[in-house]
Amino acid sequence: MWEKFDTYCVCKLCSHFCRLSEDEPAGRCNVRFYKDGEVFSLVGKRLAAVNIDPIEKKPLYHFKPKAKALSVGTVGCNFQCAWCQNHSLVTAVQFVNFPDHDFQTMNACFGQAYEPEELIRIACEHNVETLAYTYNEPTIFFEQALSLAEYAVKENKANIFVSNGYFSKQAFQVLKQCIHAFNIDIKAFSEKTYQDFCGARLRPVLDSCVRVKEAGLHLEVTTLLIPELNDSTEELTQLAQFIAEELGKDTVWHISAFHPSHNMRNKAATPVHTLDKAYEIGKEAGLHHIYYGNVPKENNTVCPKCQTTLIERKGYSVKILDDFRGKCPRCNFEISGIWRYYE
Ligand code: SF4
Repeated sequence: MWEKFDTYCVCKLCSHFCRLSEDEPAGRCNVRFYKDGEVFSLVGKRLAAVNIDPIEKKPLYHFKPKAKALSVGTVGCNFQCAWCQNHSLVTAVQFVNFPDHDFQTMNACFGQAYEPEELIRIACEHNVETLAYTYNEPTIFFEQALSLAEYAVKENKANIFVSNGYFSKQAFQVLKQCIHAFNIDIKAFSEKTYQDFCGARLRPVLDSCVRVKEAGLHLEVTTLLIPELNDSTEELTQLAQFIAEELGKDTVWHISAFHPSHNMRNKAATPVHTLDKAYEIGKEAGLHHIYYGNVPKENNTVCPKCQTTLIERKGYSVKILDDFRGKCPRCNFEISGIWRYYE
């Protein structure tokens, strides 16, 4: 996923489209680097985090509820969000003395190498139905994610991409062949916020969301609400209207509370009334399914037509109505999602 020129290469994995050369060998993610006219991944097959999580933790609420997700991530990221909640993983790569790294240092910093077969074996042993590429931005460990995802498909397991949405159009053409569900962060509805706090742009993220929807893949959107940064009525209205109009009113929107973290410790945690405001704005825009994150609150799935409760959630405890099969058993309204079996 890169193009070679006489003295440099252009990485085409994400919308930064970094130009890598002998003079500037590292991409913005600090993970892809240039050597002898080629682009390499510094993390190789190493994973910095491997866990079995409830799928609800990704978060995905309308994709195989109650499934387990073997969740993997590496170090590094193509964003530099000031509030990053996985900053120990994301920034680990910056402490390596690039390019004079040695394998011992890399192993210590970047985690253990895994073959896809090994991870699939772990998934099978624990009855895990899905693989999630998560924690840091999976686009930057594209080859690893892809080889594992392809293996997972052969074993009839579903693949989940938890992403900041900055993957390029070219990368998506490949991803869409083996990824079944995406959770994409829309971190704000302001180009300035993206530029000032993430070192990125909003437009490519919105384009990715539209592409996922157009490809007919499952998409849920997450927004971390940060006081006085992205929580104005005007901005939330624009964001909710984008979801409703461009992605569809049945697209799930997760609104999560911020807690002070990383380089943003000067702000208080998001009060619940801000989430309530976002919820009302989302409902006003016509969204059918809005869920709270990072606060202790029931997050039930309710039929948008007759208000029957179909799925009860308290934390990660999930109870599905016995006769729910993707349609409301009372009024027959179809609830968007992939409800149990991946085919
Ligand atoms: S993955 Fe993105 S940030 Fe990293 S080198 Fe490629 S284009 Fe740059």
